[in-house]
Amino acid sequence: MNCGFKKCTCTDEFTDDNSIVVGKKKYHLQCKKDIDDMNKVADIYCKYYNEKESWAIMLRSMHNWYNQHSPEYMLFCISKSVREKRAMTNFFSFYYILNDLTYQDRYRNKDIKYFTYDKVLLADYEYAQLLEIMENNTVQLTYYIRKLNDYMTVHNKSYASHFNTLCSWYKNNEDSKPIPYRNEVL
Ligand SMILES: [Zn+2]
Repeated sequence: MNCGFKKCTCTDEFTDDNSIVVGKKKYHLQCKKDIDDMNKVADIYCKYYNEKESWAIMLRSMHNWYNQHSPEYMLFCISKSVREKRAMTNFFSFYYILNDLTYQDRYRNKDIKYFTYDKVLLADYEYAQLLEIMENNTVQLTYYIRKLNDYMTVHNKSYASHFNTLCSWYKNNEDSKPIPYRNEVL
């Protein structure tokens, strides 16, 4: 069985520890994370730059840039662009931001693990822990992160620990039915 990610360059055979099944497809964990990161970039772009931008064009562009830039770096750049109010006339402008050497420097020199979306900050181990609590359901975790992100944006609120907030929201919210998160993959 081949990895469901078109740009997969992994040479590892699938094992229970390094793979995940989503629908009818199987992915390496890293490949799934790359796909999730690219979906987040597209999501943030739609939200802050142009809600009518074609999802297919954004994903195709990111696939083209994939050999040069990791999806994690792309997510770093789009988050910074939103915070710093960088102008973009269309999604292709994002390519210039990706090639901006100051962003590349900052990505290398900073602890880049501390972000998901533009407002919610989670350390790598916190993200992993949340994923474990939610039984490896990345769609569900993304839903909660996004919900917190939106809430902080709308109400201009801040929390001491985003990890603790997400844990308690999840625990208090078990009855709620998360909206399906857009998870399109080219
Ligand atoms: Zn793969």
